[in-house]
Amino acid sequence: MKIAIDGPAGAGKSTIAKKIAQALQYIYIDTGAMYRALTYKVLELNVNPENEQQVFSVFKTLQLALVPADGKGLTFRVLIGCEDVTYAIRQPDVSHNVSAVAKHSSVREAMVKLQQELARSHSVVMDGRDIGSTVLPQAEVKIFLHATVEERAKRRALELERQGHEVEFSQLLADIERRDFLDSTRAISPLQKADDAFEIDTTNLTINEVVDIVLTLVSRSQPHV
Ligand code: C5P
Repeated sequence: MKIAIDGPAGAGKSTIAKKIAQALQYIYIDTGAMYRALTYKVLELNVNPENEQQVFSVFKTLQLALVPADGKGLTFRVLIGCEDVTYAIRQPDVSHNVSAVAKHSSVREAMVKLQQELARSHSVVMDGRDIGSTVLPQAEVKIFLHATVEERAKRRALELERQGHEVEFSQLLADIERRDFLDSTRAISPLQKADDAFEIDTTNLTINEVVDIVLTLVSRSQPHV
């Protein structure tokens, strides 16, 4: 069973995906974390995110691992070699540069292969931008989550504040709008709703309401469960 959850930044993908994985005891795979980890390394090495050849060279030596933190694969730590970058990859400079890194065709091709490999022998909930359209086009359940940009910025602000970061709301909103634009207009596998994805506007829904909708869709796709 493969469940694909796509949508723009702050639409609730990872929160919902984790809860669905927990409810069904599936593995959760956050593909955004993979692009973020590469971006973290690119910035650390002072490589220009726009330079595809150099970015791809960094990818080839990345030693990226998503290590289950709870023994069940529902939450995980992100490692580059021995370095734990779980929190570092959420910092604003990574968020600001990740779309530039993620647009390169060589990088996407290699990441997609890696993601398909991770999903091969497990039931998974995978979230990202191109999961239903490109990574797991055969997924039994495809969800496209979205919400107004103001609501998404509000959620990100709360999340960052909880982690002790100072937040300039207008800056956060502008950054999310910029990332939406870059992710949905890039040439290769842009952020898009797969034709057969079920669209959910989460603006006025609670987390539990969204989880219930998704679990209903899952049970409908598996009438014997
Ligand atoms: O999901 P998250 O906001 O952490 O993703 C960070 C970035 O990684 C996105 O803005 C996008 O540029 C890139 N990404 C992607 N394809 C995916 C997942 C993430 O291009 N499947």
